[in-house]
Amino acid sequence: MENKYFKNLTDEEREILANKGTEAPFSGEYNNHFEKGYFVCRACNNKLYESKTKFDSGCGWPSFDDEIPGAIVRYQDNSLVRQRTEICCSKCDGHLGHVFHGEKITPKDTRHCVNSLSIRFIASSSLE
Ligand SMILES: [Zn+2]
Repeated sequence: MENKYFKNLTDEEREILANKGTEAPFSGEYNNHFEKGYFVCRACNNKLYESKTKFDSGCGWPSFDDEIPGAIVRYQDNSLVRQRTEICCSKCDGHLGHVFHGEKITPKDTRHCVNSLSIRFIASSSLE
């Protein structure tokens, strides 16, 4: 069953969003990207994260400590021995990454570890 939102993705985008792959750490275009704006889902343009929630975790992937309300769905991921929580776009169900708690990096104690290939940045200035 093909998700209509995944039709126009490139092969590497599809590998992440549709097949739940993971891009190599420190390879993504948004890993060290801290401009003002927001991030949308690359498949369906659903607004996911505000740039103010992005922080430098040093983990090699874009990291956010909060999502735009209602933008994300969570699933239990048992693919590794350590149980993880998978995060997906609430509109198209595209795979974004995983969310972690208890690392105490930011006051919200939450790290959304997101693939750059799953998201697209929209600068605030481009809206004016
Ligand atoms: Zn989406």
